[in-house]
Amino acid sequence: MKLHEECGIFGGIMTSGVVAPIVQNGLFMLQHRGQESAGLCCGDEDFSLHKGKGLVMHVLPDSRIKDIRGKIGIGHVRYSTQGCSDTLNAQPFMVRYLNEKVSIAHNGNVKSAIEMRKKLEHEGEIFVTSSDTEMIMKKVIKVLCKPPSQWELKEVGQVLLDNFTGGAWSIVFAVPGKVLAYRDPLGFRPLFFCEAEEGFFVASEDSAFRHLEPINIIEIEPGECVEITYNNYKISRFAKETKHKKCVFEHIYFSRPDSNVFGRNVYMTRVELGKKCAEENPVKADVVIPVMDSGFAAANGFVHHSNIPLHMGLLRNHWVGRTFIVPGQKNRKNGVQRKQMPIKPVIEGKKIVLVDDSLVRGTTSKEIVRMMRKAGAKEVHIRIASPRVVDTCFWGVDIPTKQELIADSYEFIADLTKFIEADSVAYLSFDGLKDVFGKTGWCYNCFEREKNYD
Ligand code: AMP
Repeated sequence: MKLHEECGIFGGIMTSGVVAPIVQNGLFMLQHRGQESAGLCCGDEDFSLHKGKGLVMHVLPDSRIKDIRGKIGIGHVRYSTQGCSDTLNAQPFMVRYLNEKVSIAHNGNVKSAIEMRKKLEHEGEIFVTSSDTEMIMKKVIKVLCKPPSQWELKEVGQVLLDNFTGGAWSIVFAVPGKVLAYRDPLGFRPLFFCEAEEGFFVASEDSAFRHLEPINIIEIEPGECVEITYNNYKISRFAKETKHKKCVFEHIYFSRPDSNVFGRNVYMTRVELGKKCAEENPVKADVVIPVMDSGFAAANGFVHHSNIPLHMGLLRNHWVGRTFIVPGQKNRKNGVQRKQMPIKPVIEGKKIVLVDDSLVRGTTSKEIVRMMRKAGAKEVHIRIASPRVVDTCFWGVDIPTKQELIADSYEFIADLTKFIEADSVAYLSFDGLKDVFGKTGWCYNCFEREKNYD
């Protein structure tokens, strides 16, 4: 069973013309949310499915897209971290039921997925994949027991509520004549709606609508759903208002800087986090170097507060894929070396502050400190624009097992600093994080609270 999935979803219906190039472009815009597989499912009464392992540009090239018909479409990019990255697990999933096709794309994680799957299997249900998304689809089919074209917006929402409350799910379904989308009541993952010249669409982030001519973009609130038909749309509530658990990691690392997730711009939020981190953890240094790419905004915030000049002392090799999820610490270390390249004149003889968005296993920081030393740095200080990551995540952000977390292995900052071979290491405090985001409405589960580790 796959836990820890970080994905991007897109879907919608054109007022005229074919939808496939629009979904393809939406997925290009969401590529940062998943690089393991990509896919789309398009049609009108009948649907065709196109998916595979790899990046959008490889799985869904223009040559493949040009032959895909239909005004209705949904798409998915996927990044999972556990077990095999089987093509079968690529989304969307599509099944034929009562002579109609129905398709689903999902971002998030279902609570108690393993137990629920076992229960369904004992009732005679069969599964083709190891993904919880297939289970969601089968549960809805089993409860509603009617052709997908007759599925009502609210009744699908009720099935989701009855079975998957507590989990994280931004979900989009394509059924003949309709697209239905849902955001779970706790609101872990984002979901947006766009009314555009071209039609009506939903996506994980508003930046996925860049290629459209938007008339109106609305953030779907936790517990809300959207129905899109050929010429219309409806946004309504399917779950009672409850305390939200919006994932702060969407802002810290995961979403695109130009997105406006959970009512705030991602780039500007990261700048705020960097400022706060500088306020709390001053250091005397010659240059601030961001760990590219996601540390860039926080480093700018750090500079804003500290007045230390910013330089691109590390170059991000964009031809190298993700290093975070590759199995084995040795491979991850090699990955960082390939990905981050020092610019020696910026570093040589200088006291350096390295700013990154997060410290998870410590692989990136340790390798980069080494690079800095090799390039002649006089001092290397690490500043992390988020608190200590002390717990794994069951709602869709890839945070490894507790034992792998560096904060778990090194309780005291002095020991951690020694391990990373830096001159100093400091995190943004939990209170500082709450100052930036606010006290309620957020999921802070993976971060350390008020303990003092100095
Ligand atoms: P680590 O190297 O394990 O300490 O991880 C921290 C680095 O990985 C930082 O540079 C982050 O930008 C990046 N990162 C943090 N969280 C994730 C995640 N869930 N998936 C991929 N990369 C991440």
